[in-house]
Amino acid sequence: MIFLRNEKQLDKMRKAGAVLYEILQKLAEAVRPGMSTLSLDAYAEELIRRAGAVPSFLNYQGFPNSICTSVDDTVVHGIPSDSEILKEGSIISIDCGLILDGWQSDSAITVPVGAIAPEVQRLIDVTEQCFFEGAKMAVADNRLGDIGYAVQSLAEKNNYGVIRELTGHGIGKNMHEDPNVPNYGEAGKGVRLKSGMTIALEPMISMGSYDVEMHDDGWRITTADGSFCAHYEHTIAIGEGLPEILSYPGFSWDEYFKNAKESI
Ligand code: MG
Ligand code: MG
Repeated sequence: MIFLRNEKQLDKMRKAGAVLYEILQKLAEAVRPGMSTLSLDAYAEELIRRAGAVPSFLNYQGFPNSICTSVDDTVVHGIPSDSEILKEGSIISIDCGLILDGWQSDSAITVPVGAIAPEVQRLIDVTEQCFFEGAKMAVADNRLGDIGYAVQSLAEKNNYGVIRELTGHGIGKNMHEDPNVPNYGEAGKGVRLKSGMTIALEPMISMGSYDVEMHDDGWRITTADGSFCAHYEHTIAIGEGLPEILSYPGFSWDEYFKNAKESI
């Protein structure tokens, strides 16, 4: 069942998104070579609780931590560890979710660890751009396939792989609600989008193939060919015009179009 949110509900999701945005900014600033992914998780949990929110990942289907830390060829669901020390030249995707006043927000960013190779920075840039290409299509009366098609088109134009086994999702009172939001698809196909739908759109883009493997821990998912993968996610609200990015307060589509990189 796909829920439609009213303005009062959207306002609660807006507040949750604003808190999450601030936390992810702080986590990104804290990333440096030599730190363990577990220390980043401890900082995340402290920030979430200090804001009066609840970490939604912690104990979710048994997940042991408050963030997923997915380094280099890890696509998603990396479990923070005190033996995993970040190295210069790596990239880390930080995926974080929280509940504030009963409403969920979910967002992920990929950040460099120290100096990284230009081609790896490009992967991060294109993955973010894939999100915005998809988000542009998240407008009432479009179809779900329009979003996936837009994400896939930009990724494949750059010879990147679009992870298919993992998707975005509806979000609201629960972290994962209907519908699934794939990062590939056919334009004009799938569920018709409606004003008031709230979804997490989250491209996961690899420098190589889109095949993935599950790690022995039952959580960590890596690219099968070992290529680096980036992840970028926001919780958005669909309306009649361009969507509101609930986990990115202050974002303006006007500014975005003014600064858009044309060559990507
Ligand atoms: Mg997430
Ligand atoms: Mg998500």
